[in-house]
Amino acid sequence: MTDNPAHEEFDVIVVGGGPAGLSAALYCTRLGNQTALINRGGGRAAMMQDVHNVIGITEDTAGTELLSTGIEQLREYGCTVYKDVISSCSTETPVSTSAPELESESKSESAPTETRSESDSEDETNTTTDTDTAKPNTPDNTTTPPQISLSGTETTYTAEYVVLATGFTDVRPDPPLPRTGRGLHYCLHCDAYMFIDEPVYVMGTSESAAHVAAIMLNFTDTVDLLTRGDPPTWSDDTDTVLKTHPIDIIHEEISGVQNDADGWLTALEFEDGTTREYTGGFAMYGADYNNGLANELGCELNDDGTVAVDNHGQTSVENVYAVGDLTPGHNQIPIALADGAKAGISIHWQRRPFPRDLDLLDELGPVRAEEVPGLPDELLERAIEFHTYD
Ligand SMILES: Cc1cc2nc3c(=O)[nH]c(=O)nc-3n(C[C@H](O)[C@H](O)[C@H](O)COP(=O)(O)OP(=O)(O)OC[C@H]3O[C@@H](n4cnc5c(N)ncnc54)[C@H](O)[C@@H]3O)c2cc1C
Repeated sequence: MTDNPAHEEFDVIVVGGGPAGLSAALYCTRLGNQTALINRGGGRAAMMQDVHNVIGITEDTAGTELLSTGIEQLREYGCTVYKDVISSCSTETPVSTSAPELESESKSESAPTETRSESDSEDETNTTTDTDTAKPNTPDNTTTPPQISLSGTETTYTAEYVVLATGFTDVRPDPPLPRTGRGLHYCLHCDAYMFIDEPVYVMGTSESAAHVAAIMLNFTDTVDLLTRGDPPTWSDDTDTVLKTHPIDIIHEEISGVQNDADGWLTALEFEDGTTREYTGGFAMYGADYNNGLANELGCELNDDGTVAVDNHGQTSVENVYAVGDLTPGHNQIPIALADGAKAGISIHWQRRPFPRDLDLLDELGPVRAEEVPGLPDELLERAIEFHTYD
């Protein structure tokens, strides 16, 4: 990792080194912005024992391997990578908190169900057009670009643009529990496939827990809903659904876990002395969004704690983007990657110096040959070194 000096400045800083942040940093760097990625480590992607649903990545790849390959790639393109924790942030010059109109929506239920509200399925164009984002490449803001300041452990960082990719933390139920990824799972869209025709549990008392238990009947005929002695909070309608589907609701608290030699769950023991066989299951206790930095910068939050964003990841605060699990939508790697890509492309569109717009042409005159290409020297040299056809 890079040694941390006292202060560093970049065009773009991405906070969070999961798939969303890595993707945003990759696009920002390769599109010609001096970019830093600041990551404290851990996160949801690092919890993956094996990666599913990512075309081109085989299932024997662990989340940590995917992340470290991503970091290597970023460095090769000239992104600066810090291992650090951003504890606070602020805007240094007036940054509008009202500029962008958001088209965001809240998740319809707590995150780990990996479902999205119906409005999420609306067609979202991937192409940033000249009309859908206010272009800041004007005389005013080229002379005084807004600066966003971030405080790390020993270093402060400033940037013109910040991408927040800080994700969320799955709320973990109390032990005793199976091992994560070996019988305890948080992501239905990732892991339901591995439980087809196997006995599964869903743990929790919420609407989401009941919903996921019913959804699991699409994959297997043995589904138990474990409340662990806590009172259910699902609605009467949901209660009717549960009673009219072949789901056993078990209220006894868990007292022990049985695993095979590889550490995979085989059964759970209950306080009444019974034992029930399971290959795995899902814990549904909600999400704790890492939205403190977004909140501090004044970004609008949705009721569920996600950060409100438009189709490109732009938050309600100018030059601040949010991507990945921190924002509404399915919590999946391909979606986090796409979020990062969209934010990177949108930032490029806003920062690229050419074509010079008519106001700037009036002020600065025609673009001279020696002003192009519009890349910082270091990134230009890196890119030339990178040419694969030489
Ligand atoms: C057990 C498990 C298995 C999964 N399996 C799959 C799967 O097979 N396929 C799939 O598509 N999806 C899977 N998912 C979902 C997938 O992991 C997430 O959707 C994805 O990781 C979201 O990426 P992200 O970058 O938004 O967040 P994360 O991966 O959570 O990354 C957020 C990063 O931000 C960092 N961070 C947070 N706050 C700060 C701060 N203040 N300063 C610096 N850094 C900070 C964190 O340390 C972390 O590195 C799984 C999730 C879990 C929990």
